[in-house]
Amino acid sequence: MGDVPFIPLNNGVTIPQLGFGVYRIAPGQTEQAVLAAFEAGYRHIDTAQRYGNEKQVGRALARSGLSRDAVFLTTKLDVDRHGRREAIRELEKSLGRLGTDHVDLYLIHWPEPGADRYVETWTGFEEVLADGRARAIGVSNFTRAHLQRLAAESTTIPAVNQVECHPLFARTRLREFHRLQGIETEAWGPLGQGGPLLAEAEVVRLAHEYGRSPAQIVLRWHVQLGNIVCAKSTRPERMRQNISVVDFALDDADMHVLTALDVGEHRGPDLDHCPGPTGRLRRVARRVPGARRAVRAARALRSR
Ligand code: NAD
Repeated sequence: MGDVPFIPLNNGVTIPQLGFGVYRIAPGQTEQAVLAAFEAGYRHIDTAQRYGNEKQVGRALARSGLSRDAVFLTTKLDVDRHGRREAIRELEKSLGRLGTDHVDLYLIHWPEPGADRYVETWTGFEEVLADGRARAIGVSNFTRAHLQRLAAESTTIPAVNQVECHPLFARTRLREFHRLQGIETEAWGPLGQGGPLLAEAEVVRLAHEYGRSPAQIVLRWHVQLGNIVCAKSTRPERMRQNISVVDFALDDADMHVLTALDVGEHRGPDLDHCPGPTGRLRRVARRVPGARRAVRAARALRSR
């Protein structure tokens, strides 16, 4: 397995670079999955109010025998709970479910630009940071424009922005913007959510060359870029595989090969052009013939 590196966040708190994500793990499976992840060596768990499994994450933590300080816990404020008071109240509920008095990282799950309350929400986040209920605060699925507004209207720079990122959607410009702002990039869907990425010819070729699995090649790419990564699997052998990526290195040419796979192919909604997490535009665009072209044309007009 090797030692998982720690990445320092902009307030000095450190986070294990490789974490375990529990999105779409049914509550009935979560406790066992998280215990298996601890067994595999993970000490960083990424959950969210929306996943409905915080309670089971908390139970696994309690049963594991690990001290609270040994585990880095992230949760996220649900999309329809924006507001200063809501941010604080909902964290209290999360802490109750997780069975702890603090989280290590509290994220705004989505900016919800349609509601336009993320700046107000952030003031609640600053309060829980100040009183220690969250050791670090950050955001998720924020675009550059959302981050710029937060910087202009508040005093705390998010420690991380957790965004979809993988070789088919490498986020090169956003990651560079994060770097300049002192924000760490955390990759969700780091394996492309089990989509076509792991069967890409170049990924498979590199897997043969390095004697690793396609997932390990992709995760190693993330590690070398400096991304914080939370892959998900309920299978213990894959959990072990996904954390065993610190004992080899891709050379520069192969890093470029993987980054060159970027075709802007994302699996989540496009927040630059979509008002909310439901991906309304994309779903309509998939169903209605010609609508995808119309959406693209509208975007092109808007970006002129
Ligand atoms: P992922 O990229 O981690 O893909 C998970 C899927 O990849 C698995 O279901 C499995 O099919 C496959 N897989 C995993 N390990 C493998 C291996 N070694 N070999 C072959 N296939 C393998 O996708 P994800 O779960 O969506 O993302 C990871 C975590 O990111 C989530 O669990 C969650 O914590 C977080 N997340 C956050 C957001 C957000 O909006 N902030 C959105 C989605 C996910």
